[in-house]
Amino acid sequence: MSDDATSKTTRPLGGISLNFIPAAAGDGHVPASQPVAGSGKPVEARVVIVGSGPAGLTAAIYTARANLAPIVLGGVASGGQLMITSDVENYPGFPEGVQGPELMGLFRKQAERFGARVFDADVERVDFGSRPFRLWAAGVEYRTQAVIVATGAEAIWLGIESETRLRGRGVSACATCDGFFFRDKEVGIVGGGDSALEEALFLTRFASKVHLIHRRDAFRGSKIMQARAAAHPKIELHLNRTVEEVLGAEHVEALRLGKTDGVGEERLPVQGLFIAIGHRPNVAVFRDWLETDEKGYLRTEGATTASNIEGVFIAGDVDDHRYRQAVTAAGEGCRAAIDAERWLEAQEARDREIAVPVPRSGGRAR
Ligand code: NAP
Repeated sequence: MSDDATSKTTRPLGGISLNFIPAAAGDGHVPASQPVAGSGKPVEARVVIVGSGPAGLTAAIYTARANLAPIVLGGVASGGQLMITSDVENYPGFPEGVQGPELMGLFRKQAERFGARVFDADVERVDFGSRPFRLWAAGVEYRTQAVIVATGAEAIWLGIESETRLRGRGVSACATCDGFFFRDKEVGIVGGGDSALEEALFLTRFASKVHLIHRRDAFRGSKIMQARAAAHPKIELHLNRTVEEVLGAEHVEALRLGKTDGVGEERLPVQGLFIAIGHRPNVAVFRDWLETDEKGYLRTEGATTASNIEGVFIAGDVDDHRYRQAVTAAGEGCRAAIDAERWLEAQEARDREIAVPVPRSGGRAR
């Protein structure tokens, strides 16, 4: 989040009292004013985007540049997963790397420059039963002809205090993003599914040793991945072990492991810890309306970003359990914006035709 957000004033606009975040001087960037609950009047838009990670904000850039004046309901923790990522070195266009929050600040600024209104509010409820679709966030009702759902997925964490404290300081949930920083270091990785096995193998490209820690004596992942991990000279298996604590004041220095097959504890010196125990797509608010696949991710129709409800489109990690990268999410945001724009255009052309009376002769009225 930019520093601008720390300085807020209030000004009236159209009879509604709005919080206004002043733009940085001279850069022409004017962030949107946030609607305040209690005005009673729904906020209308042609397209509402839910989510403000790379998918949502890319969809905002594209729909804004298509003159659709999108509203982004970005969540109170605006910016998505990159807000908890430090160095991003694999996003094209940044040869020196970029900090995750800085990158998301740039996405947002670019979307706002073209007129997208980004509100830091969580969507609490939706009604996709008829158009205009209705969404409620922070006590305000939004009505829209099209919706792009880009709410992402969250890594599942172990839930221990030391893991949270050292996140971004050696603890990570993305080996693809952060493995590079552990060249010639020893790292641990937790999990027993395909993600853990695959990421353990990926980490061997950088780390001097990879300790694969799993709470049972059998892996859940595919047999071939298990065989590859077990045979790799850099991977050491620690079965029937749990991570009880991540040790280190400023950075990860070691792990305290518990035993599930006996008593006692072990200390394992490592400089990094990767958590690979699954992801949870953020779908709760859409559960009554949008179809999910067997893994709980939103389902899209064929090769498009269309959902099972006409006019609702899906982008990013909320439907992608395979790639989960900022750049792929941004690509999906672009696709969803183009799908939504074309759909809206067709829809509005159809509405215009219905509105024009057809003469009895059968010729079309002009
Ligand atoms: P997953 O299959 O659900 O495995 C999660 C693993 O984490 C399990 O081994 C589980 O242990 C462990 N776990 C869960 N909570 C834990 C906790 N609190 N503490 C310690 N361990 C915990 O998740 P995934 O590996 O991310 O895979 C998700 C799906 O994507 C799977 O269907 C997978 O096949 C697929 N996938 C495919 C590929 C590929 O084909 N290349 C790559 C990655 C993922 P238990 O076994 O004891 O339950």
